[in-house]
Amino acid sequence: MSARVLVVDDILPNVKLLEAKLTSEYYEVLTAMNGEEALKKVAEENPDLVLLDVMMPGMDGFEVCTRIKSDPESAHIPVVMVTALTDVQDKVRGLESGADDFLSKPINDMALMARVRSLVRLKMSTDEWRMRENTANQLGVVDENATAMSEAVEKANVLVIEDKDFELRKIEETLDEDNHTIMAAENGAEAMELIASHDYDVILVSLNLDNEDGLRLCSHLKSNERSRAVPIMMMGTDEDMKRIAHGLEIGVNDYLIRPLERSELLARSRTQIRRKRFQERLRASFEVSLSMALTDSLTGLYNRRYLEVHLEKLLKKNQENNKAMAVMMIDIDHFKPVNDTYGHKAGDEALKIFSKRLVDNLRSFDLVARLGGEEFVVILPDISERRTYMVAERLRRAVQDELFEVGAPEGPIKVTTSIGAAIIEPGEHTVQQVLERADKMVYNAKESGRNSVVFEDIGKLNPADYEVQGRQTGS
Ligand code: GH3
Ligand code: MG
Ligand code: MG
Repeated sequence: MSARVLVVDDILPNVKLLEAKLTSEYYEVLTAMNGEEALKKVAEENPDLVLLDVMMPGMDGFEVCTRIKSDPESAHIPVVMVTALTDVQDKVRGLESGADDFLSKPINDMALMARVRSLVRLKMSTDEWRMRENTANQLGVVDENATAMSEAVEKANVLVIEDKDFELRKIEETLDEDNHTIMAAENGAEAMELIASHDYDVILVSLNLDNEDGLRLCSHLKSNERSRAVPIMMMGTDEDMKRIAHGLEIGVNDYLIRPLERSELLARSRTQIRRKRFQERLRASFEVSLSMALTDSLTGLYNRRYLEVHLEKLLKKNQENNKAMAVMMIDIDHFKPVNDTYGHKAGDEALKIFSKRLVDNLRSFDLVARLGGEEFVVILPDISERRTYMVAERLRRAVQDELFEVGAPEGPIKVTTSIGAAIIEPGEHTVQQVLERADKMVYNAKESGRNSVVFEDIGKLNPADYEVQGRQTGS
């Protein structure tokens, strides 16, 4: 898949040069000649990467970058600042304004392609999470305005793999500003031991270890389960450029050239920590949304999808263990008038109270699901017939006996329910068959006057036969 790169520079030959280089590597190139045009293209074209000149008349690159990175719509697009400036303070200013990386003019082709490739790869993986996050957004779980830039950079766990004391001390002193917990390893074996028992936010790896190939170590870290998702930064000299390019190729996230520039080290490690924390947040919210996809947001009960998958497993298990289970279909009586008379909000309130009554009167391993509307299913695994009748009656009463406070003007209202049930003996059954059997019974319960329990085989229960002393929980 070809990525789209937006090249921004006020000098036409510069634009043409970059365009030619990128096109020859099969990137699709968009161009802009000033800040305003760049922002317009970003908004309209949603590129995968922006190569941004710093020095431009009017709105300069820092400002363009700040705007791209503070707009949640575009904050995920990687920005590489292209600068003739060699002043470190400018680099740092760029990183602080959210730039993902730097290239200095004249542009080194190898550095350009390594950067572009690794950032495009990062974008693709972030996009995947963003897409899932979108679903979460629709479900209202995550903060839509969160961006990597809004993540905290402090108190991270940092692992430094470095065997030179002097270099290590310099790194520790520098990163100390962000109150990190810094641990050090002199070689790969020590590092792997630490990684096995600690969670790191970023790992710094020296490419100049005495007894070990740092690049090989990076590749090892990228394939290890526990360190795969941890950002890695290489530290090497000018002579290591080829190895650095290789490192970026295999997924190492960033690099620093010795002698290490303190403010650059600080700024680049902050970028990595922010990204990692942001991705973790996306992942966590996705997991929440996944659990939400299986539950009903109004009542918190399982939904139909979950019920169908789980019921199938239960049926199989009962067949294997030669045990019976009970399935009940539960439908609120005359629920439509509740909505029509008191409004939809009161109806929702009634559904919540109703759900809680069911849950409170069942065992913790009984399954309660909302099939939709005012229709519920309860499954009682491993239960005797007599017990099932008791439980069904108990549920019917739990609804009937206590009025529902739904905010109606005349006070709490009376709600009743019809329950249809079947005992499912061990054997071959499909989910569909089982639910249909219970559904037929609930229909019978409605026909026989509602507020009643009807069982397959034995018909309508006589409440007097199942007198329960007070309200019970558990069975
Ligand atoms: P019956 O005794 O025959 O079951 O009658 P009923 O009125 O309960 O059944 P019907 O199926 O005719 O109406 C169900 C109503 O449930 C229709 C709809 O207004 C309401 N309903 C379905 N889902 C929701 C919901 O999520 N919230 C609210 N407030 N009402 C809902
Ligand atoms: Mg109903
Ligand atoms: Mg209904």
